[in-house]
Amino acid sequence: MLDAEFFRRWMTATAAAVDREATRLTELDSPIGDADHGSNLRRGFTAVATVLEKEAPGTPGAVLVLAGRQLISTVGGASGPLYGTLLRRTGKELGDAPEVSAEQLAAALRAGVEAVTKLGGAVPGDKTMVDALDPAVAALATSFSAAARAAAAGAEATVPLIARKGRASYLGERSIGHQDPGATSSALLIAALAEAAG
Ligand code: ADP
Ligand code: MG
Ligand code: MG
Repeated sequence: MLDAEFFRRWMTATAAAVDREATRLTELDSPIGDADHGSNLRRGFTAVATVLEKEAPGTPGAVLVLAGRQLISTVGGASGPLYGTLLRRTGKELGDAPEVSAEQLAAALRAGVEAVTKLGGAVPGDKTMVDALDPAVAALATSFSAAARAAAAGAEATVPLIARKGRASYLGERSIGHQDPGATSSALLIAALAEAAG
């Protein structure tokens, strides 16, 4: 079973990975965006790590709802409301149980990804974070590490795609040949989940 401490470790590991990879995320956002994805997410997840340490929510759901709210209020770009919605919705699905199973987390994340799709309108293949999150959620039925591999593969598979949503979509066919920054950071989020499971 996964407790609040596990979810705090997940968020802390994400913050560390985003911090480590911030330059790369911003570089990916340079040819097909406005070169701020790494700094946007670094600001957001640093704030998440800080607030979780200060408030120490007692349930998995409360950890994710607080993290999501923090992202929405600290990240200016498109990715803030999208990641915020992902975590908040996933947290709401988990309710106020003190511990949840991996199966419950998989179902809750599925709802979280659906909320992202509803908010942003992107479906798999549109060259967005959904391209990493959607296969990850499917692979969660197998294991956390299978989900991490699926997310990384999904991010890499955005390279040949034409962007249909977000800033990159303004480039049309010129978005081909570049890996989507949001799919790349989503792969970090899922890798951090596998890391927290340890
Ligand atoms: P901004 O584009 O506002 O500068 P970021 O650079 O932080 O925001 O985030 C860009 C990422 O957000 C993209 O790489 C993409 O993965 C994701 N994104 C943008 N729009 C959408 C959308 N409508 N649905 C899903 N993901 C999106
Ligand atoms: Mg950007
Ligand atoms: Mg921006």
